[in-house]
Amino acid sequence: MKKILITGGAGFIGSNLCRYLLAKGHKVLCLDNFFSSKKSSISGLLDDPHFEFISHDIIEPISLSGVDCIYHLACPASPPNYQKDPIYTFRTSVWGTYNILQVARENQARVLLASTSEIYGDPFQHPQTETYWGNVNPIGPRSCYDEGKRASETLFMAHYNMHSLDIKIVRIFNTYGPYMGRDDGRVVSNFINQALNNQDITIYGDGTQTRSFQYIDDLVNGLVKMMNSEDDFVGPVNLGNPGEYTVAQLAEFILKLLPESKSKVVYKDLPINDPKKRKPDISLAKAKLDWKPVIELERGLTQTIDYFRITQ
Ligand code: NAD
Ligand code: UDP
Repeated sequence: MKKILITGGAGFIGSNLCRYLLAKGHKVLCLDNFFSSKKSSISGLLDDPHFEFISHDIIEPISLSGVDCIYHLACPASPPNYQKDPIYTFRTSVWGTYNILQVARENQARVLLASTSEIYGDPFQHPQTETYWGNVNPIGPRSCYDEGKRASETLFMAHYNMHSLDIKIVRIFNTYGPYMGRDDGRVVSNFINQALNNQDITIYGDGTQTRSFQYIDDLVNGLVKMMNSEDDFVGPVNLGNPGEYTVAQLAEFILKLLPESKSKVVYKDLPINDPKKRKPDISLAKAKLDWKPVIELERGLTQTIDYFRITQ
């Protein structure tokens, strides 16, 4: 049994990871301030004697003891959430990441960073490999997040090089599934909730931009494999599903799974600097972690629809 700290543990990915690690018999410290999540995502865990909630904003330093390893996930992740207060988002990625790295040093704990495919920006390389440096607008509306995560990666590498800290970096591609914030503005949650409520399905732009959608269980499996990987493999490593779909195809897919829906597709302005395409090259994860996603879009979307239907 390990004592595992999960920053951002009340969020979409974090709460799924808390449930998984508790089920494996670990003690979980879930640290969060509900900036982009709701208490309901972890309310079912509060009675578990192996679960502890720490209410804290990582922008402020914190001292913790007895921690064996850390999954560092705290950061607003959907464009509406991270653009609400870009200074806060950037401070979370830089100040916050620095503070969590100090917790790792204090405890001599292995620490894993949840970085993102967004660091590739609007990519010129397709699919994206970990060696690609990206094409990010440093002053655009997405930069608080993209550049923030790039800075988080820099801080992680600097602590590895200067202090031999035991680090791991993963770059997560668009992930969906149960416990996503219903109103967090991401495409999968938006389309499913719009379709369930017979509201217009809002495609931004002409819908030809692509994304690769990974189901949460595949990601959790990849995160745990990376945490338990060989000491000398620090990454960064891509974790995503290489299946690539246009946003219009995603809307069509969801409407096919909900034939009773009366929703119609409408087109809205494309957000500034919205990446035109995105698809992970996962050769490195396959080779180093023996990992690949196994849940196809239809099955994952069906499970996500069931979750949103039940929790309406
Ligand atoms: P989320 O918004 O659901 O969860 C993030 C959690 O971090 C929330 O509970 C939020 O309250 C907490 N948080 C934010 N700022 C904080 C702060 N200063 N102090 C303490 N807690 C804070 O997002 P998610 O989808 O679960 O993403 C988790 C991590 O994975 C993020 O770091 C994100 O960048 C990364 N990621 C997610 C995706 C995805 O598709 N979901 C893709 C790439 C990377
Ligand atoms: N998108 C859309 N309609 C929505 C929400 C998002 O067409 O209601 C588009 C968005 O412009 C982007 C894609 O879907 O091209 C994925 O958006 P999301 O916010 O989920 O993730 P990210 O842009 O960060 O990859």
